[in-house]
Parts: sequence; C-alpha cells; structure tokens
Amino acid sequence: MTQPDPKLLSNIRIVLARTSHPGNIGAAARALKTMGLSQLYLVQPYLFPNSQAEAMAASAGDLLAQAHVCNTLDEALAGTTLALGVSARRRDIVTEVLTPPESAVRLLTEAQVGPVALVFGNETSGLSNEELSLCQGLVTIAANPEYSSLNLAAAVQVLSYEIRQNWLQHPSWPTPEIDAAKLDDVERFYAHLETTLAELEFLNQGSPGKLMLKLRWLFARTRLAQEEVNILRGILTAAQTAKRLAAKTRN
Ligand code: SAH
Repeated sequence: MTQPDPKLLSNIRIVLARTSHPGNIGAAARALKTMGLSQLYLVQPYLFPNSQAEAMAASAGDLLAQAHVCNTLDEALAGTTLALGVSARRRDIVTEVLTPPESAVRLLTEAQVGPVALVFGNETSGLSNEELSLCQGLVTIAANPEYSSLNLAAAVQVLSYEIRQNWLQHPSWPTPEIDAAKLDDVERFYAHLETTLAELEFLNQGSPGKLMLKLRWLFARTRLAQEEVNILRGILTAAQTAKRLAAKTRN
C-alpha cells in the first residue's frame, strides 16, 4: 500500500495569534509533534521564548526552537493558498463553517501543492475581525453549548488529531480543482480594490467601514484562482484609467 506523503504534514502551518500564556505555546508544540506536524508559527506571542513553554513542550522542545516568530499574521501566512480560522461559533461572520474533519480534508488536499494554515486566536479574546479577515473559512469544534471554549492547546490537539487521522486514511489525494492564488496576491488585490473604490467615490478611503470586510468574505467564499486575481486587477486598472480620463476631460 502507498504510504501517506510526509510533505503534506510539513506543508501545514499551525499559527497561534497573540498567545498570552507561554505554557499554551509549549503544550501546543507537544500536541503538534505527537501528530507528526512540525510547523509552528507564533504571531506576537506575549512571552516567548520562556521556561514555562519549554516545560509544557516536554520532548517537543525542538518544535519550539524551530518556531517561526512573526510580527503580523500576514507574515505568518505569506505564501499560503488557504488559511482557516479556528474559532468557536461566530454569528457575525457569514461564511461556511467547517467541522474539524472537513477542515483536515481541505488542508491536506491543498497541502499537495503548497503551504496552508490553521489560525488559532488569543486565549481571552479569540481571533480579532482583522485576523479573521485574512482567513478563507472558519473551523468550529462542536462543543458543549453551555461552555464551548476549549483551552487553546486542547483545540490545537483536536485539529492536529483530525489532520493525522485523515492523513493516515488517505494514501493519495485528488489534485486541487483550482490553481489557488497565494494570500499575498489576494491581499494586493484587496488593497487595489479599496484604492479603486475610493477613487470611484464608492467608499470613503478614511473610513472603509464594514464594506471591505464584507467584500473580503464574498471573495473568500469562492476560492480565487491566480488567473482570476489577475483578471480582477485588470478590471480595476481599467476602471481607474476611465475615471482619471473622465476627470481630465471635465477639467
Ligand atoms: N473567549 C475566546 C476563547 C478563546 S480560546 C473566544 O470566545 O473566542 C483560544 C482559542 O482556542 C480560540 O481562539 C480558538 O482558536 C480555539 N478554540 C477554543 N474553543 C474552540 C471551539 N469550540 N471551536 C474552535 N476553536 C476553539
């Protein structure tokens, strides 16, 4: 029987955003290593490196030593084609909510072609709207509705376990249907969209409000292919040119 490909696990980044307790970083590293994952990304950890993290990592100290410490979530997600936010149920975000096994299948399929990520939030406040706006979907662990908030490292363990079980069960995966755009290119498209909408006076550049967030979720629901991002940017450039020409003719 064909063995599952270890490259798939090494293409999955586990990103912890603004972690307050260093012990949770260590426990998360242990959770990853027991499931064969290795790519730990830390965005603005409150305390790191730290002896409590080392103690909780036990024999997973190597993952802490190799952890990628980043200033921003954009930096941690650079080069990825899929980022899923892990969050208890949020009614304010209109997007598909995946179960842990569904997210594992998505991540492993896409990991055949490049890096992908799961993003976990801060212990007290969870993921901010800005952090969620960089994700293309949400994963929720269906827990006790009366108390659904798991410890951060426990949530990491649940998702890592699902990834490993799905990885073990599938010696091969179908090729992803689209040549998905990288997050960096999608972010450049959103910046271009915002500038163009401001030039067209469709939005007030000083206060884009919820509109940009809504547009991000609209595009996140349909996975953008690289070619589609290029087409959309071409349309924006054409709109900008037309607007500038019209302004010149008026003057
Ligand atoms: N009070 C915070 C809880 C954060 S717990 C909140 O309401 O969001 C820290 C992190 O663990 C969360 O950001 C999330 O990534 C993960 N987590 C905890 N419970 C979860 C659940 N039931 N489903 C999905 N993720 C969960």
